[in-house]
Amino acid sequence: MNSNDDCSDETEIFDAIVVGGGPGGSTTASLIARDGNRVLLLEAETFPRYQIGESLLPSTIHGVCALLGVDDQLREAGFPVKRGGTFKWGANPEPWTFAFETSRNLPGPVSHAYQVERMKFDKILLDNAEKLGVDVRYNHSATGVVRDDDGRIAGVTYRDTTQQTRTATARFVVDASGSGSRLHNEVGGRREYSPFFRNLALFGYFEGAKRLPAPNSGNILCVAFDAGWFWFIPLSDTLTSVGVVVKHEMAAEIQGDPAEALEKLIAKCPLISDHLDGARRVEEGPYGQLRVRKDYSYDRTSIWAPGMCLVGDAAVFIDPVFSSGVHLSTYSGMLAARTINSVLAGDIAEEAGWQEFEFRYRHEFALFRDFVTAFYEMHVDEDSYFWQARKIAGQPGDAKAAFAELVGGVAGLDFARPDLDSPEGNTTDLVRAAAALTSVTTNSDEDGTCPVPEDTSPVVIGALSAMVPHSAKHDAAFTDRLAVSPDGLRWC
Ligand SMILES: Cc1cc2nc3c(=O)[nH]c(=O)nc-3n(C[C@H](O)[C@H](O)[C@H](O)COP(=O)(O)OP(=O)(O)OC[C@H]3O[C@@H](n4cnc5c(N)ncnc54)[C@H](O)[C@@H]3O)c2cc1C
Repeated sequence: MNSNDDCSDETEIFDAIVVGGGPGGSTTASLIARDGNRVLLLEAETFPRYQIGESLLPSTIHGVCALLGVDDQLREAGFPVKRGGTFKWGANPEPWTFAFETSRNLPGPVSHAYQVERMKFDKILLDNAEKLGVDVRYNHSATGVVRDDDGRIAGVTYRDTTQQTRTATARFVVDASGSGSRLHNEVGGRREYSPFFRNLALFGYFEGAKRLPAPNSGNILCVAFDAGWFWFIPLSDTLTSVGVVVKHEMAAEIQGDPAEALEKLIAKCPLISDHLDGARRVEEGPYGQLRVRKDYSYDRTSIWAPGMCLVGDAAVFIDPVFSSGVHLSTYSGMLAARTINSVLAGDIAEEAGWQEFEFRYRHEFALFRDFVTAFYEMHVDEDSYFWQARKIAGQPGDAKAAFAELVGGVAGLDFARPDLDSPEGNTTDLVRAAAALTSVTTNSDEDGTCPVPEDTSPVVIGALSAMVPHSAKHDAAFTDRLAVSPDGLRWC
């Protein structure tokens, strides 16, 4: 075993080691543990910890979070309900609104997401990982990887709470340590920053801002103006996350005096200054700081190597206008877990598993990257954006519904498109996913299907028909691809 650090002699052995306890890491670790494997998760900080990325998508809440078994907890947490988004964007001088419920893939009970304080949301997910048996260690920072004699990644070195360097080995290492990852280069290839999205974001928090009129008071509001665009995200009845995205040429001005820069930019954007009229910027506690982020849009030429993969921001990220970050991190975590579980179980060869992971992850990332790029064309109106969404997602039918579906995170390969007009619907998927989503019972029948538990609620049934990870036969794009196991935890 080779590593660059001087290490303590004690080496612990796991099936998988996950670096980072954000949504990408907690999802990956939970779903690997849930398949009966031993998982170590190293998190550099203590939770709750601050993170940006507060506006979520229905795919995360009713898809991956249902699979994790935290959807009830999220519903009870009292997060503002996000029914869609309101934009002042493009050629139309008036704000326009879309609702997730426009999409047939997001019927009634699943036609919303939440706006979350990440300190609370990330803790719910990581506490749940611990409940599922993951060995979660806070204040433990990964410092490097270790390789076996063949060069395969076979573990990590990390610093524990006493600053002692230790080693742990595993069949698989997952880097979920975010944009600041120290490990991502270990899979080879390189991170490629987007020249088009070389933007900079400045953000803070306000108490007492106005709200959009009901029923859209929980919507994200995005407002384009001469210098860039603002987000306005209600996090509670009184707390609002406000950020502005501008060209990197404004970096000196913004970093010189962020408070003055934010005030000036707000004054230039009438819809945002109107919503902040009478509000007070928070100046104490975790929300008291104005923060700046730049160089956050990037792709990567490699996202796995034998023994290791990258998920979430450690791998790729694209501009936040459609709030796709947590969706992509939890989705890639779910894909990585399926590959790792399948290889650990001896079901498939490792390379085939990583190819499936990469194919689906890149497909989902490309949907958002291509659509966000088209969305930055400001000289067209919303109907044109809707048609672009329809084209990019390759969806037949209503263009506004295609838009809601794409930005709801359910236009990709892992969410069923139930044929609601067919007498059979997609009963098989519906039945299969019940077991995964409810986690209430159930042992598989002899034929491999799982019965729907008797107490499955209408919400779960609604979620199932829209959000279930589905099998190859439902989608032509899946020809020659691996399918998803009935419980959603492996490829088959
Ligand atoms: C301006 C801006 C606005 C955004 N708005 C949104 C939004 O509205 N909605 C949305 O969904 N997304 C948004 N995002 C994206 C979102 O912040 C990220 O995509 C998301 O947090 C990624 O999750 P993750 O789990 O991959 O990484 P993270 O959430 O960054 O978690 C990584 C974890 O790894 C830990 N870690 C780091 N290094 C180590 C180490 N060496 N050892 C152990 N642990 C380590 C960190 O402490 C951290 O807890 C936004 C991003 C930006 C830049």
